[in-house]
Amino acid sequence: MMQQGRVRPEEALISVIVPVYNEAEAIDAFLRQITPELTQAGVRFETIFVNDGSTDATLTLLLDRASTQSGLRVINLSRNFGKEAAMTAGLDHARGDAAVLIDVDLQDPPELLGKFITLWRQGYDVVYGLRESRQADARLKRVTAGLFYAVFNMMSPTPIPPNVGDFRLIDRRVIEALHLLPERGRFMKGLFAWVGFPSIGVPYVRPARVLGQSKWNYWRLWNFALDGIVSFSTAPLRVWTYCGIAIAAGALFYALFIALYTLILGNRVPGYASLIIVVLFSTAANLISLGMIGEYVGRLFVETKQRPIYLLEGIYPPDKAA
Ligand code: UDP
Ligand code: MG
Repeated sequence: MMQQGRVRPEEALISVIVPVYNEAEAIDAFLRQITPELTQAGVRFETIFVNDGSTDATLTLLLDRASTQSGLRVINLSRNFGKEAAMTAGLDHARGDAAVLIDVDLQDPPELLGKFITLWRQGYDVVYGLRESRQADARLKRVTAGLFYAVFNMMSPTPIPPNVGDFRLIDRRVIEALHLLPERGRFMKGLFAWVGFPSIGVPYVRPARVLGQSKWNYWRLWNFALDGIVSFSTAPLRVWTYCGIAIAAGALFYALFIALYTLILGNRVPGYASLIIVVLFSTAANLISLGMIGEYVGRLFVETKQRPIYLLEGIYPPDKAA
């Protein structure tokens, strides 16, 4: 059993951070489930909803719930910034001794929170949910997800555990550590892996979404995966050096072959097929490598602008402490 010798406060405050984007249907069911779980765990808690530019009744509903329930805060972003930015906003405003990141759609089961808190009290700074089976996901999504983790972990010096989402509890010192990472490209799973700290996974079966709809499609997931890899590894840049070396070596052998062939058997004019293959191949390799450099230059461009990760429209009820 883990004992870090770090004492957790008896009267711990847990900040539950919930990014929401067009989730009016899901919010009440979520609140009904989360409250008894946390009360049972014997902690005080605040629920921070981060409204990520919803265009439905989400905000109205949240403001209404915030006016009747104490300990419920709404951080309203000025537009849709994406889940990663929304989670960052939540963490920036969390006052708890620990924070929980959880989806509103009940795909991250609130029943696990009691266990998360127990493990945190035992000394773990990060307690994450580990998807035991992805039965609820389509086959294609499972396969592509598996591929992503394999590629990411091959390239990144700080691997991420496969089948782990954002659902987790993190200690205050992990929140502070995340504040030290100012990048705009916020691939949270990668950031969590990068900061480290004693961590443990709690296996669970991820249910399908019951209310509302998933905000992800394959194109968005592909871009997300690309973001993740490019933010945490320079391998896609370096690989071209080796491709170049390999192609150059191949070209050298081919040149020797042609020279010898010409010397022994005379000039062979018909060479269209081999010529066009070489030209197309090297052009393609050039373009891909250029595109890869572009991926990094584009991100450098975004990072150097130093724009904030998100903008607030307001906090409800207003933040008196800060
Ligand atoms: N979400 C968000 N901003 C977005 C997209 C999603 O805050 O631009 C929230 C969404 O409301 C939900 C969570 O992120 O609470 C997970 O989204 P979703 O269920 O669509 O993702 P999936 O479970 O399909 O991966
Ligand atoms: Mg979901």
